[in-house]
Amino acid sequence: MRRFTKPFTQQLPIPESAIASAIDVMRTGRLHRYNTLQGEHSVADLLDLQFATYLGMKYCLSCASGGYALYIALLCAGVKNGDPVLCNAFTLAPVPGAINNAGGVPVLVETTEDLTIDLADLAAKAEESGAKFLLLSHMRGHLVDMDALMALCNQKGIVVIEDCAHTMGASWNGRKSGTFGLVSCFSTQTYKHINSGEGGFLVTDNDEVMAKAIIYSGSYMLFDRHPTLPPLETFSEIATATPNYSGRMDNLRAAILAPQLEGLDEQCQRWNRLYHAFADALSTLPGVRLPNRPPEEEFVGSSIQFSFPDLSPAQLSALVSGCEARGVVLKWLGDSKPSGYSSKYNHWAYLDTSRELPQTERVLGTLLDMRIPLTFDEADGQIIASVIAEVLNER
Ligand SMILES: *Cc1c(COP(=O)(O)O)cnc(C)c1O
Repeated sequence: MRRFTKPFTQQLPIPESAIASAIDVMRTGRLHRYNTLQGEHSVADLLDLQFATYLGMKYCLSCASGGYALYIALLCAGVKNGDPVLCNAFTLAPVPGAINNAGGVPVLVETTEDLTIDLADLAAKAEESGAKFLLLSHMRGHLVDMDALMALCNQKGIVVIEDCAHTMGASWNGRKSGTFGLVSCFSTQTYKHINSGEGGFLVTDNDEVMAKAIIYSGSYMLFDRHPTLPPLETFSEIATATPNYSGRMDNLRAAILAPQLEGLDEQCQRWNRLYHAFADALSTLPGVRLPNRPPEEEFVGSSIQFSFPDLSPAQLSALVSGCEARGVVLKWLGDSKPSGYSSKYNHWAYLDTSRELPQTERVLGTLLDMRIPLTFDEADGQIIASVIAEVLNER
């Protein structure tokens, strides 16, 4: 019996240069982002500048987490108590959670075979609910046709908020993910593309959105210290009309992130070499289907999804446990119970889950998900595929 022995949750160590910067920050004792001397930029300030420059956006605000960034992004975009907010049915718990936190009511949209939001269902649900907001989750790094999505949303007057937790470093048709919506959010939590344990970014080109985000995040009246700063008159009412919902980034985590951000594009290329090796190996399995990835989608392959459309739930469940016994950790998205990090839209019992989503049920019903940590090698794809093949053969 073949076994795979590498852990699926082991990320790379923090680079030595990042460790050195973190130690420098600790030596100063000045960990709070506003703990600066006259005319000085804090490490968190420099990180905001660095990420805004990376994306080619005017404004960036680093935050305490990706979920927090999403929450205030929704508020800044204008979501009010009771407002319907469209979002992908195939996403992760922090996404409906952020909508709920902002007082919105998630309106779940169907999923295509290729794991993107279904544009026809988006149009139908927008019409039916009257929703004026879409929290678009690029779940597992799959980018929908962004040109078509933006055209549809512009035509219907829907404000787009992008959840780029899985697309940091990705682009659609040469344009970076996170530059399409009114406001976009990223996560720097350990399992994302750069790692500070917890953390996130909010980016926008909009003056009012940025002014509100700075105040919400807990700037007190120190907002004018921000390095990516809207014109000061933008704050005249916003500074006192916006509550403080403390969720700042600190200098220690910013110090850990800055060197990683410098190496991001190289890491993404490494992920894609692994992804292609894994996709080649997995595509030899009998009865497997891998999602189509259009040429416009310059994704980051930090995880891989594949399905066995002809297997029954019992067979999929046996496949997952057989693989697990041999060290290959697969997440079955059709599982009837939530487990580990993942859950499915109908597990979020605080939502109205009475509405059937037959297409999403069908797509997720036979879908498997696997992380590709950078601690793996290209050759591991072959080993993993042969483990899966062995388990499939035993049926
Ligand atoms: C991780 C994640 C988030 C939220 O990020 P946190 O930093 O953990 O709050 C949002 N959306 C998706 C799809 C994620 O995977």
